[in-house]
This record gives sequence, structure tokens and C-alpha cells, in this order.
Amino acid sequence: MTDLYFGLEAGGTKFVCAVGTGPDDIRERFRIPTADPATTIGASIRFFEEAALRHGPPASIGIASFGPVELRRDQGAYGSVTKTPKPGWSDADLVGPFERAFSVPVGFDTDVNGAALGEWRWGAGRGLHSVIYLTVGTGIGGGAVIGGRMLHGLVHPEMGHVSVPRVAGDDFPGRCPFHGDCLEGMAAGPAIEQRWGRRGEELGELLAPAVDLEASYLASGLRQYVYVLAPERIIVGGGVSELPGLMPALRERLLEQMAGYGVLEEHLRDDFVSLPGLGPNSGAAGAFALAAAALAEE
Ligand code: ZN
Repeated sequence: MTDLYFGLEAGGTKFVCAVGTGPDDIRERFRIPTADPATTIGASIRFFEEAALRHGPPASIGIASFGPVELRRDQGAYGSVTKTPKPGWSDADLVGPFERAFSVPVGFDTDVNGAALGEWRWGAGRGLHSVIYLTVGTGIGGGAVIGGRMLHGLVHPEMGHVSVPRVAGDDFPGRCPFHGDCLEGMAAGPAIEQRWGRRGEELGELLAPAVDLEASYLASGLRQYVYVLAPERIIVGGGVSELPGLMPALRERLLEQMAGYGVLEEHLRDDFVSLPGLGPNSGAAGAFALAAAALAEE
């Protein structure tokens, strides 16, 4: 018998509840616009309570949340959103209400860590020991899975905020409110839009130079992850990853920047830097993977 999971993608604009056993077996989904915590969490729990009558009770629950969140289990605030500009959500407890309502293990992590774990379990990272998942969209975030566990320290990694060398001749100031020209500040979607004056999908004749520059900055980030964490694969998702020609350019730039040092046969393979494998079900898969991990830890 396969375990049934309840998965919650807790996003800043919407909460998506999913019921299923994996990305290929999603039995029901329910979307709620993100309002205040009591309303949104209450509606999610009501949906899951009704879903349990239709599909049976869950083996475990997974919550993949917008950040920042408290992930240290020895902290009283474990399972909560911490300080966020989103009105009403600072210190909101996400895990507690679901634990009380269902009395099953509840897995909890950031949305990007959930996506990393989902890709490792069912997608482009399947069968590997160590995988990094990087999302490049309105921001840049990354998670690392090592031996089936998310890499955590004091907090979750913030892979988008590493510093990157400026490409010669580029005087774009960068958009990160904290660091200016960190990787996110130079290469996330809003930086592309501001730099070229057009959205990614409307670049037209600017596509080639934009992809070229984007690949250079992302490769600088990837080079650091390769040397610091030595992953077997780096999966690059998010809207920006879909820019035509970006992935081949990124693979090429990464190898250029590694300059032959520590380059293994695996780094030369096209799937060393890979697109995600789960497509539109990656969010649900991430939440299910957190549920599966919580169950395995019991
Ligand atoms: Zn930054």
C-alpha cells in the first residue's frame, strides 16, 4: 500500500493544497489566495479534513513555505514564518495547526528546498546522492540535497546572494536591496527586465546578448556551488531557466570558468546542469517529498 500525502505549497500569493502519493498521482488539488494566516491556514485545514473523508487519512503532511522560516527544531518558533514584510505573517505558525488537526508527522521547509527534495526523489535528481536545485525567477534561491536530506545550518542556504565577479564593461548596479550586485541582484528576472528594458519573454533581438550575460553570471554562481558542495547535478528551474539557449550557454560558461580545474567527466555531460524534471507538478511534488521525509524520520 502506497502512503497518501497531504502537501501544502504555502506561497506568498496563494496556498495550494494537494492530495496524492507522488507527482504522477495527484488525486485532488485546491487553491486559496493568501489572506491573513488564520483565514488561509483555516481554509487549508478544512479542505484537507474534507479530503480525508474522500481519500482516507494522510500518512504524513508536507509544507513547502515562502520564507523566511524557522527550521531549527530546538527553537520554540520551529515551523513558523519569521520576520516578513507580508502583513500579518511575521511569526505565523504553519506547522502547529496541521499537527494538531491531523496528528501525523508534518515535514516543513522552504519552497525551494521542497522543490529540491521533490526533484531528487522523483525528477531530474533521481538516483543521485547529491543534488542542487536553483530557481531563477523573481529572485534566486537554491537548496542542496545530500543523501536524501536537505542541507540546513543555522538556517536554509541563501544561494542567490553569493557575490559574483562583474562581467567586463557591465555597469548595471544590481537590484538586490541588501547587496546590490550579488547573483540575485545581477541575474534574477527583475534584473533582466531593468537592464534590457523588456521582460524576458519579449527580448526579441536582445535575446542573444541577454542570454550571454545571464549565462556568465549564473555560471559564476554555479562554479561556487560546484567547488563548495561538489554536487553530482545542478538542476536549474524558474522562469528565467526557460530563456531559449540559456542552458547550453550556461554549461559552456561554467566549464570555461572552471578552467580545467577539478573537471570530471560528469561535469562535461549535458545533464550535469539540467532543467527540472517535474514541470507543473513540481510544487506539489516538493510538498509530498517533505511529507515522505517526515514519515521516514519517524
Ligand atoms: Zn543579495
